[in-house]
Amino acid sequence: MFIKKCALCNVEISENNDSKEHIIPNAIGGKKKVKGFICDLCNIKSGDAWETELAKQLNSLCLLFNIKRDRGAVPSQKFRTTGGKHLILNKDGTFDQVTPGYKEVVNDTGVRIDISDRSYSKLKKRLRGVKRKYPQAPVDEALNDIENHAIIKNKYTHDLIEFNYSFGGDEAGRSIVKSALSLAFDSGINPKDCKDAMNYLLNSKAEACFGFFYERDLIKNRPEKNPFHCVYVKGDPVTQLLLGYVEYFGCQRVVLCLSRSYNDVEFNNQYSLNPITGENLTLDVDLNLTLSEIESAYNYEKLNLEVYKTAVIKIMAMGQAISFQMEKERVFADAVKYAFSECGVVEGEILTSEQQKAMAGLIWKKIEPFVLHNIVTKH
Ligand SMILES: [Zn+2]
Repeated sequence: MFIKKCALCNVEISENNDSKEHIIPNAIGGKKKVKGFICDLCNIKSGDAWETELAKQLNSLCLLFNIKRDRGAVPSQKFRTTGGKHLILNKDGTFDQVTPGYKEVVNDTGVRIDISDRSYSKLKKRLRGVKRKYPQAPVDEALNDIENHAIIKNKYTHDLIEFNYSFGGDEAGRSIVKSALSLAFDSGINPKDCKDAMNYLLNSKAEACFGFFYERDLIKNRPEKNPFHCVYVKGDPVTQLLLGYVEYFGCQRVVLCLSRSYNDVEFNNQYSLNPITGENLTLDVDLNLTLSEIESAYNYEKLNLEVYKTAVIKIMAMGQAISFQMEKERVFADAVKYAFSECGVVEGEILTSEQQKAMAGLIWKKIEPFVLHNIVTKH
């Protein structure tokens, strides 16, 4: 065992300044931490610069899969639909229209006001404004029972959402390299012996030590039904290579070389998980790559755009299926709760036939937009 010094700034690590770094950034769903790897200060600095950029690039997928963070939530994000609408994707997978509207039409009989906004609370705020401007206006009822007075528009869209990706660059790349290095550290490797990785992390002008790899699938038992993150490292004294493989959300696939002079015992280690549930996974990673294959990945020669595109489409379809399921459960649970409270019935009581009819009507009222939307889109 070596003395624990911060891998990035060399300061000695004690209980007081140990950042207990997440191997995979928590912002994208990683849970496992490693002790004694880097100090608090470097954690903050690298987090601000590297992890923030990586999380930004993966934000739409974090929203789609409703990734939970230890602190704070994944920020909502604006999207454009193929029909030209602008929508906001929320962290619970629902969409809101972006532009709040206010239209006032004065005619002979009075004033007609149309208001739209992104949430009930925002609508209420606007209604209070109307009340101040027109004290006579009958807005009290709407204010007291906003959910039954507002019409939900655009909650579900029939258009396709346009997701634009950019992935890579030095900032996100350093986050990826740091993840592989932290797992190597967790496996007992001294970061100082990982010259390629350290040089890239510490020297802003250094050449990248990672590249995209889509030439063949390096994961032999790829999960098909859920998204996953995987960080894998492997040291081989025969080839003297200490290699890493990082894959996020099943579609961003990166190979890296941490060291070309590895001469300790043969080992491999991984941290893979389902970022929705946090459940650990054991993946069969086949990282038998030569140095020349790794180097050609650095030069974008292993970036097969067709394979990449197929992987992205697959993960988007998986995300839509999962968010459909989550939304279905949410809508039905809300509808039942609403119907019970409106009927004044306690769960478990035997319903009269009038109550049953009333319940069915109330439930339908709540689930109608969701059901109709899905009849139309899913045939
Ligand atoms: Zn440090």
